[in-house]
Amino acid sequence: MSQISPSPAPGTIHAAISGPIVMIGFGSIGRGTLPLIDRHFEFDRARAIVVEPDDRDRGMVEQYGFGFLETAVTVDNYRELLTPLLSAGDGQGFCVNLSVDTSSVDIMRLCRELGVLYIDTVVEPWPGFYYDPATDNALRTNHALRSTATDERRRSPGGTTAVSCCGANPGMVSWFVKEALVELVSDLGIEADEPAAGDRAGWAEYMRVAGVKGIHIAERDTQRTRLPKPIDTFWNTWSVDGFISEGLQPAELGWGTHEKWMPENARTFADPTAPGIFLEQPGAETRVRTWCPSHGEQYGFLVTHNEALSIPDFFTVRGDDGEVVFRPTCHYAYHPCNDAVLSFHELFGAAGRWPSEQHVLDEHEIVDGRDELGVLLYGHERNAFWYGSQLTIEEARELAPFQNATGLQVTSAVLAGMVWALENPEAGIVETDDMDHRRCLEIQRPYLGPVAGYYTDWTPLTDRPGLFAEDLDLDDPWQFRNVLVH
Ligand code: NAD
Repeated sequence: MSQISPSPAPGTIHAAISGPIVMIGFGSIGRGTLPLIDRHFEFDRARAIVVEPDDRDRGMVEQYGFGFLETAVTVDNYRELLTPLLSAGDGQGFCVNLSVDTSSVDIMRLCRELGVLYIDTVVEPWPGFYYDPATDNALRTNHALRSTATDERRRSPGGTTAVSCCGANPGMVSWFVKEALVELVSDLGIEADEPAAGDRAGWAEYMRVAGVKGIHIAERDTQRTRLPKPIDTFWNTWSVDGFISEGLQPAELGWGTHEKWMPENARTFADPTAPGIFLEQPGAETRVRTWCPSHGEQYGFLVTHNEALSIPDFFTVRGDDGEVVFRPTCHYAYHPCNDAVLSFHELFGAAGRWPSEQHVLDEHEIVDGRDELGVLLYGHERNAFWYGSQLTIEEARELAPFQNATGLQVTSAVLAGMVWALENPEAGIVETDDMDHRRCLEIQRPYLGPVAGYYTDWTPLTDRPGLFAEDLDLDDPWQFRNVLVH
């Protein structure tokens, strides 16, 4: 086990924001991010504003000296509404998009036209994308969503920085992959220098020589409340809206070059650059076997996420003719808090009907537990290496207000991404894989509790087969065939 101790004190001013700050959406992540902005940046409060259609937290926003505009950002109003807010006064503004139901790419484009810095935590579409039964499922994937951002980058390279998908995951986990890889390469005794931050081909080759076959974003959330969840409610530790939306998207994963088998309902994309495949079934009903340090082996949901595509894309080694020579498999393996597991069980049992009440558990009602969120690099000579944050609710309460452990892993990544953007204001559209992971983790680490690495002998074949015959690949433990719960 390796452990890194927190670095700078949480009161540090990291940078100045010279223009206005516009935060879109003030749900669980907005509430947690605002106090970190307040704590770590110099800015003009008279030009800092939250745009949010629900005014339940207006008092808190105003207590911090931010303005509050009670309205929804829509496809029809976003230009007229946001332009004057983003360009008020002198200096360079910053747009922090933490809402659901707004198009990340449209707002990012507007910001870049205005020379305003931009950050979000997910590629979010305008309403309608997630729930159209007439749409081919390929169009409801994260490949489809992510392509809107990568197409925009291709169409308009360089220019004002816009950071796409900079939360915990997607986001911080891409920095963990690099940090874990550096440690693994050293532990394996491989003589290879750490590539420079922007050296995509160098990083891909670095992973290939380390012998990594794949990566799970392996998460176990054990936060719980004193009273159990009533029936016909959906409880979660972050956006219920966001989790239901992604949980009903098709299961989707980056598809590695070592894989020998595909599920019968797997589909590839017409786009030859797509780094992944998807299954014709919802992610929150697709279980995989994975491992986290505190509780060992577990089931996780294979919910689609941007990082399941951006990471394998970043770490792809190509041959002289552009053919893919190496790519790791990569997917989310998420055990959410027990209340959310039960909530999805009930939602699917009710044919997908939304429960009457949706609720995000806050830092006061959670009595104990931690969010153990890391990356499991597997298939190399030391078998598997988990590296990540093991933040407890008690630590989260002490470190920052208005958020639980899950929230703080996200909001501190937003903070790190904002600092990086201010230090690199002309980097164009970037994903977190493209950023300097050392600098970002340096900013974020004081908020992550213990950040540690653990080796394990566990594989998806450990203690199998049991009482019933199973369809396994006994020659290669780390085949997706063994990871997927059939
Ligand atoms: P939430 O559901 O608690 O809050 C979303 C907020 O957006 C709500 O307050 C809602 O009223 C507001 N909103 C809805 N429509 C809007 C509109 N048209 N204009 C402005 N505001 C609008 O969600 P959350 O937990 O705060 O998450 C926010 C976003 O961050 C979601 O997209 C979620 O998927 C994402 N997220 C990312 C990560 C990550 O690690 N990358 C983690 C958690 C959440």
